[in-house]
Amino acid sequence: MEIQCGIGCRLICLRDYHQIRVRLDVSKRAYNFCAGPAALPEAVLQRAQGELLDWHGKGLSVMEMSHRSDEFVSIATKAEQDLRDLLDIPSNYKVLFLQGGASQQFAQIPLNLLPEQGTADYIDTGIWGQKAIEEASRYGHVNVAGTAKPYDYFAIPGQNEWKLSKNAAYVHYVANETIGGLEFDWVPEVGDVPLVCDMSSDILSRPIDVSKYGMIYAGAQKNIGPSGILVNIIREDLLGRARSVCPTMLNYKVAADNGSMYNTPPAFAWYLSGLVFEWLKEQGGVAAMGKLNEEKQRTLYDFIDASGLYSNPINLTDRSWMNVPFRLADDRLDKPFLAGADERGLLNLKGHRSVGGMRASIYNAVDINAIKALISYMAEFEKEHG
Ligand SMILES: *Cc1c(COP(=O)(O)O)cnc(C)c1O
Repeated sequence: MEIQCGIGCRLICLRDYHQIRVRLDVSKRAYNFCAGPAALPEAVLQRAQGELLDWHGKGLSVMEMSHRSDEFVSIATKAEQDLRDLLDIPSNYKVLFLQGGASQQFAQIPLNLLPEQGTADYIDTGIWGQKAIEEASRYGHVNVAGTAKPYDYFAIPGQNEWKLSKNAAYVHYVANETIGGLEFDWVPEVGDVPLVCDMSSDILSRPIDVSKYGMIYAGAQKNIGPSGILVNIIREDLLGRARSVCPTMLNYKVAADNGSMYNTPPAFAWYLSGLVFEWLKEQGGVAAMGKLNEEKQRTLYDFIDASGLYSNPINLTDRSWMNVPFRLADDRLDKPFLAGADERGLLNLKGHRSVGGMRASIYNAVDINAIKALISYMAEFEKEHG
């Protein structure tokens, strides 16, 4: 039995207490536009809540299991298989679940793939591309083969402008610059040279052809799961090339040979990522997400472009589907804009401290209703202040 009370909460008989608690908690959830750690699907959080104390009748939480137990190995294996299904990962690729985030990959990549006397080509499209370049430069020769600098980082330089090396060990680029809001909608052609891609903020947002890459990596906390875990999809022939000084824990081959369990993995983050992969499959997979994400970004950019108060400076074909930075015509309005947004439960719209302005991150778990709520607030604010 359910009774609606005067202030909107519902009373219910004790038997259903657990369910109503769950429902009330959901009703309190805000629209979260955080760049990362970012929104997770509600269904996933509820599932994790339901399994928290007692996973599948085993009488313990995933956090309390041995990572070597049959239970956890089944969780880990299923997560990998679901990711393989979602991205159609060919069998000659390993899927690694690693720690240290994308930032650690910036060092790990040259330690594993760049011979001491070799050269690696990097493309500079923004802050993350630059961080990768800076870190790799500590380990060997880096050639910045292409840069968005001449475009003030508002456009991605076409490949005809790149100067790739003759014998690069690999070519590195960032598929989506999470802070600047630029995204490749094409895959570089680099022949036989391994293409290495930081897909931290747009993996699983639309279909990709994994076979075009030597390695794809992505920190989980944008479009996969909670922070603390990173996915690395790496072609098998790239394993076993690490320098002798490469720490054991950073050696891709060691991770691959040990099923990403050379030491204790971030088990709970792995489990939650697995729940997100299951959820994505239920939504119709990456192709379905791609359609939804196309509509979401189009709706938001169309509104911004038509407005007199808000603007986005990025070249039309290079605009990110996942991170939409925008400015108000007068930055003295930033504060009241953010305060009003907070009041309406539209959270984390403040742009990155290095660029200012606003940014709406609209990953897979942020649905079209969040976009509509945001636009409705932006229109209302513009009426008052425009
Ligand atoms: C967030 C992000 C990073 C850094 O990730 P960490 O897990 O914090 O190290 C690197 N690259 C891109 C594209 C990102 O979005």
